[in-house]
Amino acid sequence: MDGRAHLLDLSFADFRQWLIEHGQPKFRAKQVFGWVYEKRARDFDSMSDLPKTLREQLASEFVIYRSDEAAVQTSRDGTDKLLVRLADGGEVECVLLRDGNRRSICVSSQVGCAMGCVFCASGLDGVDRNLTRGEIVEQMLRLQARLEPEERLSHIVMMGMGEPLANLDRVLGALETAKSADGLGISPRRITISTVGLPPAIDRLADNGVPYNLAVSLHAPNEELRSQLVPVNEKIGIDAVLAAADRYFAASGRRLTFEYVLLGGVNDGAEHAQELAQLLRRRTVLLNVIPYNPVEGLPYQTPSQRAIAEFRQILESAGVNVMFRQRKGDEIDAACGQLRRNRAGK
Ligand code: SAH
Repeated sequence: MDGRAHLLDLSFADFRQWLIEHGQPKFRAKQVFGWVYEKRARDFDSMSDLPKTLREQLASEFVIYRSDEAAVQTSRDGTDKLLVRLADGGEVECVLLRDGNRRSICVSSQVGCAMGCVFCASGLDGVDRNLTRGEIVEQMLRLQARLEPEERLSHIVMMGMGEPLANLDRVLGALETAKSADGLGISPRRITISTVGLPPAIDRLADNGVPYNLAVSLHAPNEELRSQLVPVNEKIGIDAVLAAADRYFAASGRRLTFEYVLLGGVNDGAEHAQELAQLLRRRTVLLNVIPYNPVEGLPYQTPSQRAIAEFRQILESAGVNVMFRQRKGDEIDAACGQLRRNRAGK
């Protein structure tokens, strides 16, 4: 394996320190980061305002891109999905969604996932490992590179493979690069971390003090059904998840999002909608309802249009702020974990 360090693992301050230790003027840090994050340089040689000796020294010490693109799928609705092969052979997925002026990306935090949600393709084989900070940042850069030169990334969601709060330090490092003016310069208000709901890590995220948006994958309105769909719930409990989310809201002031994957005949009944409305009506939340994106080999189905309409009507008339997400990119296996899985099967 390449012994060089991954530049994307370094914060701006780390890199400036490296330059100082190597007898370089520290203003070079701004130049190099400008090349990588703004001008989308893929190698040091193209950094034309750096002395050649420095370019050579950097190239012998660092790599910028450490992984490969194993597959790309593009769909007519403006969605691009990448399957990224990491240096050790592990694979993760990430997605670019174009919607009006928005250029949103969905990024992975782990190879596989340990949470075991019964309907999700990412966790079917458990978790292999956490991604490094640089591997998370590299997905962002690879997706940014697909934009036209005048386009900019506008939103990031940590909703790809893996549980971001099970790899919190690396995720926070990568997001620091994403939000920093020396990095991608994306406001934390446009960055969302999606979690199955791990209370101690939600509290650590609140203590971190950066107002990222928190999305909690609820998927069920009561203990029994949630434990069935989201097995880690058994040890945590829905009340503890909601209480941690409330604390995050109190600390950050950011409206919470709850995600609810609608599984036909499982959690899409009128009684589920009513129970959910009870849980959410007094909270400042957005409920994001996602019709199930079928995964081969799993026994779940997308709900009927009728069930979706009724579910929506019950929540809306209870005054819950609810959004029904359109399935974007489903022709390209855009539900996380599916591209990797479908290719592995071939
Ligand atoms: N582990 C984190 C983030 C990754 S999953 C979490 O649980 O939130 C991102 C979202 O996609 C979650 O809400 C997850 O439940 C949902 N999801 C997973 N598989 C899906 C599928 N096949 N169809 C629709 N949504 C799915």
